[in-house]
Amino acid sequence: MSEKITFTPISYTGWDSLSHLVEEVEKFNVKKILVITDPFLKEIGLTDKVTHPLNEAGYITDVYTDVVPEPPLAVGEKLVSYTREHAFDMVIGIGGGSALDLTKLAGVIAVHEGDVADYLNLTGTKSITKKGLPSILIPTTSGTGSEVTNISVLSLETTKDVVTHDYLLADVAIVDPALTMSLPAKVTAATGIDALTHAIEAYVSKNASPVTDALALQAIRLISQSIRTAVHHGDNKQARIDLSYGSYLAGIAFFNAGVAGVHALAYPLGGQFHIAHGDSNAVLLPYVMGYIRSACEKRMKDILDTMGFSSTHLSQEEASHRCVEELKRLVEDVGIPSSLKGFNIGHDALDSLTEDATKQTRLLARSPMELCKEDIYTIYEAAFEGK
Ligand code: NAD
Repeated sequence: MSEKITFTPISYTGWDSLSHLVEEVEKFNVKKILVITDPFLKEIGLTDKVTHPLNEAGYITDVYTDVVPEPPLAVGEKLVSYTREHAFDMVIGIGGGSALDLTKLAGVIAVHEGDVADYLNLTGTKSITKKGLPSILIPTTSGTGSEVTNISVLSLETTKDVVTHDYLLADVAIVDPALTMSLPAKVTAATGIDALTHAIEAYVSKNASPVTDALALQAIRLISQSIRTAVHHGDNKQARIDLSYGSYLAGIAFFNAGVAGVHALAYPLGGQFHIAHGDSNAVLLPYVMGYIRSACEKRMKDILDTMGFSSTHLSQEEASHRCVEELKRLVEDVGIPSSLKGFNIGHDALDSLTEDATKQTRLLARSPMELCKEDIYTIYEAAFEGK
């Protein structure tokens, strides 16, 4: 058996890696650059860290700030129209997954015909056929891994869908933990658990390979051992560095091995209740893993060990159970509610959540245990009660 492994061509990681921005831009023959970010990041001066050195080097920059968290399709459509109208020759995204996902769309869909909706995975009718504008992605959260994936996630009326193609991969990713120092505890927690979910789902994925295993386990180690400190002591530089590397590695791991049940059930929580992506994953992670553990006990034992707990005296069955308990404890320790009730979701929502999650066949196909509609409902019910 062989696997295709895809990496973003160039990445800079580590403290102060943003200092490489101008030298990378210089490799492209560009003048007019669209910088895509969200209004808060502009307000706190993070965006200036991109525009100032570029302007000093003689580049023209236009800062687009109409980005909102968990961006709806309409926000993507508007940005693509703007990009087409103003004839930019490069796009740079600085922000969380929301800004980065929109940057990918801007760069690629702007050079294609039609609307973003035409290219959605579940309902689109058109295919991406060519590379877009050169792109650089600079994350300011340690979570989504968007800087190294070919996926752009959009919120629809009741769920989410993606545009995905290798042409959406960035030319350059710059993963500078210094940019995450200003993240509030709540966003650090949600995005950090998002990254942990990527690594765990990649590790137990049906498409896992020795390459993705190496990335996923290192990501699990780095994230699980730094997230509490990063949340409760946000000025701890080493915790921010570890979380940043962990999120980056988890991104490459899940891009190549895929995510599965946790994401399939999380998307409708985002779509129907506008719960942040990281929180949606966090509240479901222990319950999905608890439900599927008999299908991946050995791997869950590895995860427990990698999180820093010795499983030497435990059977695989016991270790997988303990792994679920530790994941639940971790979610609680970083201050995220560990039940759907905690997010004010009523029991009457479980049917429609199940309906939408069942449609995520691309994600569910990678689960180590097949999950049918009844299974999905049972998992939501356990997450509702928090048991
Ligand atoms: P986000 O981009 O929505 O940002 C969340 C909040 O954090 C925003 O209010 C933002 O202003 C703030 N923020 C970001 N960086 C900050 C900083 N350094 N200091 C202070 N505040 C900061 O959050 P996210 O979780 O990074 O991204 C979520 C989106 O990414 C969702 O739409 C999700 O579906 C998508 N996603 C994409 C992929 C992918 O592979 N493309 C993977 C997972 C999730």
